[in-house]
Amino acid sequence: MSGVPDTARTPGQPLMRIKDLAKTFSLKGGLFGGETDRVHAVDGVSFDLIKGETLGLVGESGCGKSTTGRCLLRLIEPSAGEVWFEGRDVLRMGGRELAALRRDMQIIFQDPFASLNPRMTVGAIIGEALIIHGLTPTKRAFEDRIIELLETVGLGADHVRRYPHEFSGGQRQRIGIARALAVSPKLIVCDEPVSALDVSIQAQVINLLEDLQTKFGLTYIFIAHDLSVVEHISTRVAVMYLGRIVEIATARDLYTQPLHPYTEALLSAVPIPDPTAKRQRIPLTGDVPSPIRRPTGCHFHTRCPIRKMPLCASEDPKLKPAGPNGHMVACHLRG
Ligand code: SF4
Repeated sequence: MSGVPDTARTPGQPLMRIKDLAKTFSLKGGLFGGETDRVHAVDGVSFDLIKGETLGLVGESGCGKSTTGRCLLRLIEPSAGEVWFEGRDVLRMGGRELAALRRDMQIIFQDPFASLNPRMTVGAIIGEALIIHGLTPTKRAFEDRIIELLETVGLGADHVRRYPHEFSGGQRQRIGIARALAVSPKLIVCDEPVSALDVSIQAQVINLLEDLQTKFGLTYIFIAHDLSVVEHISTRVAVMYLGRIVEIATARDLYTQPLHPYTEALLSAVPIPDPTAKRQRIPLTGDVPSPIRRPTGCHFHTRCPIRKMPLCASEDPKLKPAGPNGHMVACHLRG
């Protein structure tokens, strides 16, 4: 295996290694339906995922974080790059090997209502994967396992014959979590799992995910568009902009010593619990540029509040080491 650059590694045993992951989508049109444009959704993403950690993946809508998560599980086929899971080459896996890998890697979706089949009972939804993977040899074992999973996520045995529409948003997300847990995965990609929930319910779901991580030794990739959501659950945080990681660091370093101007701007919008404390808001002007026609040089230069050099518009800054504990940043002025 050609390795992930040393600088993207952190101490600990990697469960997963991602190198130069890319995903482009073709836009077709015109008289003959040929390719008219390309969307660069994910562009050269590399990182190691350490066993037992939670990596927060953060950025504005359209930055490629969800596409990255789906590419890792091959729910979307990447265009290029490498994905290794426990030393196995995920992108070269075929039918049965890939199906077996799906036991190890699960996903929880943003919208707990849209992701649950409204015509299936909760028991059938949670039990589907048990049947597919042949995990419960008898009907009794199947039923016991479903009840065990419901109780694990804070629901009761009496919920087993009910339908998704009978539950609140928070309860539906618990059903989604139980479905992911059914196959005893090692990794769960949590794709904005609390974004659709009320703030009071968000904390409950995040606490549940933390408890489950401790209990089952899970590793998470936690995708969010808001740095405040991932602050307490993340071991490390990677900030994405226009398909690339622009900064990655331990959660503590990222929140106390952010280096990339984009991270600083996102952090300045995070509310501080202490009402007497003041944080200067760094406004981000303009919209995120189109991933079809990205700006030259540093992709962030059209919105960067501290853009200082002609180099910013002409040369693409690489992600490079910028501090202890694997802190890396892609900015000509930092690092
Ligand atoms: Fe801003 Fe230049 Fe750094 Fe890009 S390289 S983030 S434009 S200072």
